[in-house]
Amino acid sequence: MSRTHPTDPAPDPRFPFPHTPAPTRCRTRPELFDLSSGDLSGDTKEAAQKRLEQARRSCSACPIVTECLRWALVNKPVTKDGVFAGTTPGQRNVLRRRLADRLGPDWVDVLAARDQARRARAEAARHTPLPVPQARIVHLDRELNGPLHVLPRLTSEEQRLNRSRLEAGLKAA
Ligand code: SF4
Repeated sequence: MSRTHPTDPAPDPRFPFPHTPAPTRCRTRPELFDLSSGDLSGDTKEAAQKRLEQARRSCSACPIVTECLRWALVNKPVTKDGVFAGTTPGQRNVLRRRLADRLGPDWVDVLAARDQARRARAEAARHTPLPVPQARIVHLDRELNGPLHVLPRLTSEEQRLNRSRLEAGLKAA
């Protein structure tokens, strides 16, 4: 994000800002997203409202709006002002309170742990081939060897005959 000042606190490194090759409007028209009172001096209330609406419209068409909102919520120290993902600072505080209600007061750490676990699973999946489902093996077997031939059920007389042949063969051996 280009809206941070050198003296601002650094964003939480556990949550990198989402990447997009698209030139987001907050980069090309940052003044629309700045709600700080200094920048609004001289603005009429209507003009400020108009800029806010323009920023919101831009965010709603932004390809990374969902990820941007998450980033803004977990990075309160660097998103105290301005519009991020179409939200004002007050709206983000409401969303943060809801997250704290749902996940607990350490909700930022909870989200960071989830992200870490997801990354670890993705990494493991890259190095460990997924097991081939059994159904796929059966399908391949049929393709290579043709359908399974089920033996006809023997009558009790045929079973008796086979048993006596087997016993005779075992005796002779
Ligand atoms: S959603 Fe975020 S990155 Fe996209 S234009 Fe809005 S503030 Fe910028």
